[in-house]
Amino acid sequence: MLNGQMMQMPLLVSSLLEHARRHAGDVEIVSRRVEGDTHRCTWATLARRAQQVAQALDRLGCAAGERIGTLAWNGHRHVELYYGISGSQRVCHTVNPRLFPEQIAWIIDDAADTVLCFDLSFLPLVEQLAPQLHTVRHYVLMSDRAHMPAASTLPGLLCYEDLLDAESGHYAWPQFDEQAAASICYTSGTTGHPKGAVYSHRSTLLHAMAAAMPDAMNLSGNDVILPVVPMFHVNAWGLPYASAMVGAKLVLPGPHLDGASLHALFESEQVTFSAGVPTVWLGLLTHMERQQLRFSSFRRTVIGGSACPPAMLHTLQQVHGVEVVHAWGMTELSPLGTLSRLRRHHADLPQERREALQAKQGRSIYGVDMAIVDGQGQSLPWDGRSAGDLMVRGHWVVDSYLGQDAALPLRAVDGQGGWFPTGDVATIDAEGYMQITDRSKDVIKSGGEWISSIELENIAMAHPGVQEAAVVAVPHPKWDERPLLVVVRKPEAADLDRTAMLGFYEGRIAKWQIPDDVVFVESLPHTATGKLLKLKLREQFRQHRLPGA
Ligand code: ADP
Repeated sequence: MLNGQMMQMPLLVSSLLEHARRHAGDVEIVSRRVEGDTHRCTWATLARRAQQVAQALDRLGCAAGERIGTLAWNGHRHVELYYGISGSQRVCHTVNPRLFPEQIAWIIDDAADTVLCFDLSFLPLVEQLAPQLHTVRHYVLMSDRAHMPAASTLPGLLCYEDLLDAESGHYAWPQFDEQAAASICYTSGTTGHPKGAVYSHRSTLLHAMAAAMPDAMNLSGNDVILPVVPMFHVNAWGLPYASAMVGAKLVLPGPHLDGASLHALFESEQVTFSAGVPTVWLGLLTHMERQQLRFSSFRRTVIGGSACPPAMLHTLQQVHGVEVVHAWGMTELSPLGTLSRLRRHHADLPQERREALQAKQGRSIYGVDMAIVDGQGQSLPWDGRSAGDLMVRGHWVVDSYLGQDAALPLRAVDGQGGWFPTGDVATIDAEGYMQITDRSKDVIKSGGEWISSIELENIAMAHPGVQEAAVVAVPHPKWDERPLLVVVRKPEAADLDRTAMLGFYEGRIAKWQIPDDVVFVESLPHTATGKLLKLKLREQFRQHRLPGA
């Protein structure tokens, strides 16, 4: 065998920051902070501060592999921690502050975090949690001396800026095995107890590189990137890493995620690219519609995390001139799996058909392979109709969860092991466009046939009077289950009623798939990551009597 004779350089997270410092050191990072101000720095100053973080962790006696927890919004200090923690061979454990306090405590305990860093807004939460946190040795408030509380119940509460001030920043990033853990994110637990996905340095870098590719997020050093998707869930879809890789300007909105604040920030910083879940865009678009606003620089957005309603895709593209890239992923996939980009020969298709393709969850990017299988693990055809369990494998897909044996969740496809079962049900068409019909537990099983709740929701969302819609299965004596539509009306559409709503489905879908009933509500429940909380809705409407049932 002849070995390659290329340099062996481990793929380490610190190399991204080092690259940004050396080659895009003057590029800005703008943060709206919890303290109320807007902070500006550059990749060069951020890199220096990340090195100070690493030195501060040394001083606190943190060993390699120790988990450092964060409870924080998108901001420069959080980015500094991402790099300072992982770069110095500790593991950055981002915790979702929107979870129930008991879940947060359970997750921090399960990951055995030894230091917990948190934004000012989470001080009361951390004080409440502290008695249940058995592994945390140090609490660090991510602010300056002026914002430290006069008194706190937290033992030995440390000030982030004081910790950094005590360090020189002269720190050489250690070199180590790229398979070492860089960060941990727990699944939201919508499908059971939260489980820790442990990303390696290698998987993080490969994912960032793939995310930046033209047929993925198409990121460039000319972009101004505003991740609305939080850094506390799946590393903001890898954007803090990919931004450093391409040397882009980064704009971080902190806790200010309402439509008005976001629009103002998009405009003042001339944002070109953003990414977030559909609920965020719903808020932003509603605000813009009411105030008759437009974007002056915003060009592309990736929408994922739950299905992007085709009506939203249409409005962003046709009214606002923002290209929408619909994406699918999961915590277990770091998170990117597929993105819906049009191919060369689609250029001549009528707009409606182009949008129908874009509304699918998309095609695999290199690094993630996928298959759909029947109950016996046999592959189903890619014909755009056969729906089956979606399986994936790839360089940034988990093979086991934190604290579990290797290869625990993996299954076989056509007799060959090593595939991760996503829990989603999907079709794949002949061109490789994957479309999620449902999470397997959300599928509505009616008379032996499956009805896609997502498809029914997408239709409802296209009605001009509908603010938000959810479709859930309700038990039915004859058909087993039937769909129930739950709708939040727009304020100006108070007269939208059941007949009009159900009439809207006529001609848009097979008759037997039309929901049996409609319930109008004030608001819909969401998970900590902005998805519809179907479990809660199913429980709430379990006893709902459908007409004719
Ligand atoms: P959880 O912890 O709830 O699993 P994730 O953020 O990992 O949270 O959620 C992943 C799931 O979200 C996927 O398995 C899929 O069901 C859903 N999802 C993500 N993106 C999309 C999308 N574009 N369309 C439909 N569903 C999506």
